[in-house]
Order: sequence, then C-alpha cells, then structure tokens
Amino acid sequence: MARKVGDHYQYSGAVHVHTTVSDGTKTLDEVIAIGQSAGLDFLMLSDHMDLAGREAGGEGKYGKMLVLIGYEHNDEDDIHHYLIFGSPGVYPREMSAKEYVAAAAVDGALGIIAHPDEIRPKEGRHPPYPWLDWSVEGYDGIEIWNQMSEWMEKLTAWNKVPMAFSPRKSMAGPTARLLKIWDEVSMTRKVVGVVAVDAHAFAIGVGPLTVQIFPYKVHFRTLRTHVMLPERLSDDFEIARDQVYAALRDCRAFGSNMRWGSADGFQFTAENSSEKAISGGSVSDVQNTRLWVDLPSRALVRIVGNGSTLLQTESESVDYAVTQAGIYRVEAWKGKRGWIFSNHIRVGI
Ligand SMILES: [Zn+2]
Ligand SMILES: [Zn+2]
Repeated sequence: MARKVGDHYQYSGAVHVHTTVSDGTKTLDEVIAIGQSAGLDFLMLSDHMDLAGREAGGEGKYGKMLVLIGYEHNDEDDIHHYLIFGSPGVYPREMSAKEYVAAAAVDGALGIIAHPDEIRPKEGRHPPYPWLDWSVEGYDGIEIWNQMSEWMEKLTAWNKVPMAFSPRKSMAGPTARLLKIWDEVSMTRKVVGVVAVDAHAFAIGVGPLTVQIFPYKVHFRTLRTHVMLPERLSDDFEIARDQVYAALRDCRAFGSNMRWGSADGFQFTAENSSEKAISGGSVSDVQNTRLWVDLPSRALVRIVGNGSTLLQTESESVDYAVTQAGIYRVEAWKGKRGWIFSNHIRVGI
C-alpha cells in the first residue's frame, strides 16, 4: 500500500521469484494470488532463461499489485546469474557475462547481479552460483542480500532440521564482503542494492519428512525491496512499470526483512539549508549537510560512509553531521539480525 513519507511514496515488493516456468513449484497464477494476499505492491518474477510468463501476457496490474516479468540469465558454466527486466527476449546462452550485461544495457533493460556471494562447496546437490567476473561493467544493481542463498550457505547436515522448520530465524543479513564490493563500485557510479527472495518453494527431505522450504507466502513476508516514487504508482501498467524500474535504476530504494517489523515509514535524508536528498540523490555542500535517519522502531543504526562505519548507536532516529565528501548509507539491525539497508546518498561528489 502506498505510504507517503517525506516527499515520496513508498511501495514494497518481492524481487527474484521463480514459478513452474522454470524450477519454482507454483504456477504464475498461484504465485500472483499469494503475492496479493501477502500485500505486495509489486512482484518481480525471474524464471531461468525463459520469458514464457511475459510472452503469455502475464505482466500487468492485478488489483493494486504490479507484476513485472523478466528472467534470470546464466552463462554456459551456470555461474554469473543475472536478473534482466525489459529485454526484448532471452539472450543466447553462449554469451559471456560481459556480453549479456552489455546487451541488456544497450537494450535499455534493467540488470541486477544475482546472489554474487555464494561460496559454499562445489560438491553436493546445491553447488554455488557466484559472480566471479567483477571486471564487468554496466549492470544496474546487485542483490546485496539473497534469502535462499543465505539459507543454503548456512545449511549443514547438523542444522538441517531447525533450518527447515524455522527458515526465517536463520536470516542474518548481507555479508560484509558483498557490502564492501557494493560500496566500492558505488563510489564510481550508481548501483542499486536490492534484497531478493529467490523464491522457489523447494521441498527437501528431512529424515522421513518432506518439508517445503520458504513457502512463497513466507518469502513474501520476509525480504522486501522498497522503492520511493515522487508520485503515486500509476494505474496504467506501462507507466507503473517504468516508475519502478526508474526508481531502482536511480537507487531510490531500500531493503528490509519484515520478520523484524515493517519498515514502512523508514526515512534517510541528507539536508542542508538549500538542498535535500534521499537515497539515489546528491547534495553538493559537504560542510553544512546533516544526515537524518528515522526508523519505525528502535534498532542498532549504523551510518556507513565510503564503506566505513562512522556512527553506531541504538536509537529510533539519528542526526549525523557530515564532515567529508563521499557516499553515505544506513543499516538498521535488530540485535544481530539485519533489518533495513538503505541505498547511498552522495555528498559533495
Ligand atoms: Zn540464480
Ligand atoms: Zn533464482
């Protein structure tokens, strides 16, 4: 549901969702119905190497929920997974990561690097699908947190039972390694950080039982990507689609784990006497700028500037005086559990 916070309307959605078009376990219609009942404002579907849902006319407004259908590209070695929204079709599998990232950019599609940080052992039934080639340029975003990926990374033979029955409890947050990569690349240009569910609703065997890991409805009430729009989301599908893609491209977004409370109302701004910016924006005056953070409830807040933690405090709101030029973002944690992650505001650069 739209929520006006400051000068912008906030909407939240689920990014990176599979259906039976590839290896998900529910059909497009079923996933859409679950998304609606979970109260999503938008749903971004991305089956592996397949746009059948979009070709069948599946994109559109379903009641108040916007459904966008892209796909997840992988190279021939099945690494370098890349979410692509708005491409004319599925690019050839023979392309290298460099080539399909470039092709998507040329076609004006939105491209997001998926689960780049998987490092689990290659042996076994679920090998990692990391992003290895960081020399690639031109991607629009990075999944800074992938729910299924974090769950798989943590899974061992010993914790399989609690992990299967309480999958949300295990979620900690983005890895420091990945946040560092994101901060570094963001110093050179805008790269949106999104949180992704990577929903499949797989079933796994736990002893004599078969347990469905992260049913869609659980995913849809956990990691949400929030976008901030200057105007309400349009009732016209194509305008609404472009509003969401533009917000993501512009980094007017933040991610949250709903498990620790709704992030609706979260606010992060940079202000001085003549300028004001939210994530994705910039202000030019360094010496007179203050960063303001408002949270829906008390949490451990970190102000991160140019990749370093500059302030850490337990609070519901923070006011921080900027002293040097750079890129600034905010993290909010509930104890050791990641809750809200903003995108960057640029100050004096
Ligand atoms: Zn993938
Ligand atoms: Zn996936």
